[in-house]
This record gives sequence, structure tokens and C-alpha cells, in this order.
Amino acid sequence: MSLPPVESDCWQVAPLSAEFRHGATERAFLGEQLAQTQRQLRLALLFCAVFYLGFAVTDLAWIGAQQHTPALLTVRAAVVLCGLGCLWLLRRRPRSIKVSRLAASAASVAGSAGILLIAALRPSEFLLHAITMSILVTVLYIYIPNRLLYAVAVALGSTLGFIALAWWRAPLSAVELGTMATLLLLANVFGYVAALRYQRLWRDEYASRCVLRDQSIRDHLTGCYNRRHLHEQLLENELARAQRYKLSLTVIMCDLDHFKAINDNHGHHGGDAVLVMFAELLRSMTREGIDGVVRYGGEEFLLVLPETDLRGGVLLAERLRQALAATPIAHKQQLIRATASFGVASVDFASSANPAAHHGMIASADNLLYAAKKAGRNQVCALQLP
Ligand code: GH3
Ligand code: MG
Ligand code: MG
Repeated sequence: MSLPPVESDCWQVAPLSAEFRHGATERAFLGEQLAQTQRQLRLALLFCAVFYLGFAVTDLAWIGAQQHTPALLTVRAAVVLCGLGCLWLLRRRPRSIKVSRLAASAASVAGSAGILLIAALRPSEFLLHAITMSILVTVLYIYIPNRLLYAVAVALGSTLGFIALAWWRAPLSAVELGTMATLLLLANVFGYVAALRYQRLWRDEYASRCVLRDQSIRDHLTGCYNRRHLHEQLLENELARAQRYKLSLTVIMCDLDHFKAINDNHGHHGGDAVLVMFAELLRSMTREGIDGVVRYGGEEFLLVLPETDLRGGVLLAERLRQALAATPIAHKQQLIRATASFGVASVDFASSANPAAHHGMIASADNLLYAAKKAGRNQVCALQLP
């Protein structure tokens, strides 16, 4: 089936989490973006690790060598080690969405916890730490690619922890404390809104791209694959798979009989209604996601049937032939009767001695279709290719 338009429910994005409401769509989106997400995450972790370590210099400059200095440096080193561990994890499991999120969340928690510890060890510069905290909030929402809800949990959790710590340890007046807390909460609000917009845009763009890509490989009237997709991808993929695993592959070429007369008698719209109904019949009687249904020409369709031998192909063609002949199509209070002819060609790659057997598959199916037409139409002609 062709993909629904971008305004359909299946592309709806939840307003607060900025995720597709439809679980399968969200998973497909995350899967397609995974390589890019991981690149961004690796870069973010490396960048943050360098800065985390680099600011050890300012620790030393501010407090010099004193009682808390080893603890401060240990905290920084531990956070950097955690970041490196996450990078190692990403390298080991590059195809896992879960691991990618785990690494993003673990690094976020470690970075936030580190800043709280550093602030606790150097309480005299709490307003400076507040600046660091607001940068951290921005990094968590926007720079580290993570699930938005996880980013909210870590950013808001660490902000509240920081405010509590300031209230407990910092030598700040109530006005200073209140202002700092308000500004930090505001940083969270802005970070969240920016991330929400960014995540939404990213998904809207993905939905448009999917729908456009789908439209470019399908026929507008029937929703079947078009011939370009058949030749650029579908046939080649199925042939390669059948050859690699030594399977049977069958193609069926079918053509509506005396379609010109249907157009002449019922008008072009009547003809179109027959095409749409026939395409629907072809799709409903084949395996979704396995068989390919292609509009090959005006009223000519091609079925590509993986792992199907000649017998299976003939059975299907016969069922399709009978179903079409038995189902008149309602159009403008009239019933249009239609029949079709079928050419079935099959190659068994397990037994075929001819390595080029597949080359003429479509041409053979076309010749068989022509033979069915010559034999009186509304028929099935079939051949096992050597
Ligand atoms: P045969 O039994 O030998 O196949 O005869 P036929 O009349 O079906 O074949 P022919 O090739 O003579 O005519 C095909 C017709 O299909 C001519 C063309 O106008 C019509 N056609 C092609 N594309 C479309 C379409 O998208 N919609 C409609 N309504 N008609 C179409
Ligand atoms: Mg025809
Ligand atoms: Mg034709």
C-alpha cells in the first residue's frame, strides 16, 4: 500500500514528547536517523569531555592546591571516563537505538552529577557554577541527541538538585538565590521549547521525505509500484536474493482484455475505476510486503513473486483471473464486467543450469501473455524457464 499523506494520523507528532504517536513510525524514524544521531552523539561526547577536563585548569587557578583539589580532579576524570565508556559502547553496538539512548542518558547524568559535586566542593563560587549549569541545560536539551523526555528528566532533575544545593551550601542572599533559581528554570523552559521545535521539525521533514519518496516509486492512479521502481530496485533485489539463496522466482504479466472497449463504452472514468479495482484485487490477493505489484503500462500489471514456483504462480494467476471475471465493477449505477489474460514465467535458481535464465523473465512473461490473448483471452499461459 502507498503511504498516507503527511497530514494523516500515522505521521502525527505528540505535542509534549515530540515523538510520532504511531510506535512503528517512531521506530522507523529512529532507525533511519541512527547513523546521524550516533555521529552527533560521538562528537558531543568528545567535545564535552575535552571541556570537562580543560576546566580542571580553572579549578586549580581558583583554589590552587588545597584539601578539595584531588577530589575535584577525580570528579572531572570520572566524568570524562564515563564519556569515554559511552563512546566505546557506541562503537561496539552501532546499530542499537537503545544503546545510543543509554549512552546519551548515562553521559548526561554523569555530566550533571559532576557539576553538582564540583559546586559542592567549591561553594564559594556558586554564581559561576550557575552559569555552567545553564550551559549544561542547553547541552542536555539541544546538543546531546537523546529522547526529549529523558533530556527533560536529567536537565530538570539536575537543575532542582543544584538549586537545593545552593540553598543548603551557597553563601547567597535570598534574593540572589531566588533570581538564580528563576533564571535556571527559565533556561530549562527555553531549552525544552527549542528542543521541542527541533524534534518536531526533524520529524515533519522525515514524514515529507517518506511520502515524497513513496510517491516517486508509485503510480498515481492505482498506488502500485511504477516501472522505474521495478527496474531500479525491485527486480534486481529479488533476482539477487533468489540467486543467492537458490530460490524460485516467478513473474506474472497481466493485461485487461478489450480495455479499449471498456473506455469506449463507459468513458475514461469507467476505465479508471476498472484499473483501480483490478489493482486492489492484485494487492489483496498477494502477500503484502513480499510480492511486488507493478503497473507496467496502461492496463498492464506485473507481479513479482519471490519464493514462488511455477505451480504457485499459475494457481495465483488462475485465482486472480476467476476473481476478476466474477466481480463486476460498479460505476455510475452501471456494472462493468472485465476479464484479464495472464503470462506466468518462473525460474528455479536451485536447479537452473543457465546462469542467465533470469535475463528474459519479463519478456518471457510478456510473450506468454500474448499467447494467452491469441488463445482467446481470459486465460493463463505459463512456462518454466530453463
Ligand atoms: P487487448 O485485449 O488486446 O489487451 O485489447 P485492449 O483494448 O485492452 O488493448 P489496447 O492496447 O488496444 O488498448 C489499451 C487501452 O488502454 C488504450 C488506452 O487508451 C487505455 N488506457 C491506457 N492507460 C489508461 C488509463 O490510465 N486510464 C484509462 N481509462 N485508460 C487507459
Ligand atoms: Mg489490454
Ligand atoms: Mg496492453
